[in-house]
Amino acid sequence: MRQSDPCRISRERFMPDPEQTLAPDLEQLTARHLRRTRRTVEQGARLPFANVDGRQLRVFCSNDYLGLAHDPRLAEAMADAARLWGVGSGAAHLVTGHTEIHHCLEAELAEFTGRERALLFSTGYMANLGLISALAGRRDLIVEDRLNHASLIDATRLCGARVRRYCHGDSAAADARLDAAAGERRLIVTDGVFSMDGDTAPLSDLARVAALRDAWLIVDDAHGLGVMGKNGRGSLEVHGLGPDDVPGLMGTLGKAFGAFGAFVAGSHALIETLIQHARTYIYTTAPPPAVAAAARRALQIVQDESGRRDHLAALIKRFRDGASSLGLRLMPSASPIQPLLVGDPGQALAASQWLYERGFWIAAIRPPTVPVGSSRLRVTLSAAHRTGDVDDLLEALSRCPALEIGG
Ligand SMILES: *Cc1c(COP(=O)(O)O)cnc(C)c1O
Repeated sequence: MRQSDPCRISRERFMPDPEQTLAPDLEQLTARHLRRTRRTVEQGARLPFANVDGRQLRVFCSNDYLGLAHDPRLAEAMADAARLWGVGSGAAHLVTGHTEIHHCLEAELAEFTGRERALLFSTGYMANLGLISALAGRRDLIVEDRLNHASLIDATRLCGARVRRYCHGDSAAADARLDAAAGERRLIVTDGVFSMDGDTAPLSDLARVAALRDAWLIVDDAHGLGVMGKNGRGSLEVHGLGPDDVPGLMGTLGKAFGAFGAFVAGSHALIETLIQHARTYIYTTAPPPAVAAAARRALQIVQDESGRRDHLAALIKRFRDGASSLGLRLMPSASPIQPLLVGDPGQALAASQWLYERGFWIAAIRPPTVPVGSSRLRVTLSAAHRTGDVDDLLEALSRCPALEIGG
């Protein structure tokens, strides 16, 4: 019977069994403490809380820095727009998917960032891929920070340009890379606030290098916009830089803005170039108009309610003061991303698990997301936290056995 089934025979002969083929890699990841798992969030709580496995946890690893994701005003804007416009956009922006709501959001983002135009993308990952590959190809040179976000690393790899990475935050090294290599078009590409370290790029120095070396500085400010700067205009506001210094600015709407999606802001010519050439813009369905409506509401709140940033800044200071007096291994960060360095991935995982059992949710970040030997607890703070939440976290950290506590 078996032998008379020709499909069966050819399958056994030619197709390796996926279970057997894939299992060793997965087992190895588990053994090396590098296996990634998900926790499922249950309904019924909002930041700073989340329900998991029937228990309420306090969350210290979300990117919802201003506590806007659960804001009823965003939910209302989204629901209203969904009723008026439907759920799906139905097509790409260049077909029938580009609505008035998207268009208004783009105009408002352009104004917020002080640029001629802005262009919405479905995600930040796609914005980076589209932006970099529309600007650079085989004949061009890209110089980028070693610790750039994975989406920028992938974008520079995929676009076919020559890529030189420089030591984290080292503008002199960026300068040397540009000096040593040619390229018809030359880009310096960096995160504004680094996603896993929380520190900021030396943007003023990089802007000087770019001007001197005839390069364009491109900044991904996914973690800066909405949070950094007095008016929430991000890392560029902190450094007093404008469109002439940084011709390409990328921002996301799924972090401080509490919504979803991303954008690139720049000159008329840059945005028009992206509309013509950015494949991740052209060949994908436009985000739902209701998502854009929620983002518009968030943008208003980001501008109107600076008290959220003040509260967040006070929490950051409280956490850093407390953690340093406990001797915890802080990193040099002024942003809501406040990682505690652990080193070994197994130990980082153990610390995360110990805290989980005591009601705190803090992700252990391990390679390849961060360099080998620099596994960490990536603590993030949000305006949704109260002072007492930070104090409770510090108290728990002071007792956490897997954390190396010094002085
Ligand atoms: C989160 C993030 C992205 C990706 O944005 P998504 O909208 O989540 O796809 C890009 N760059 C940086 C620095 C980020 O932190």
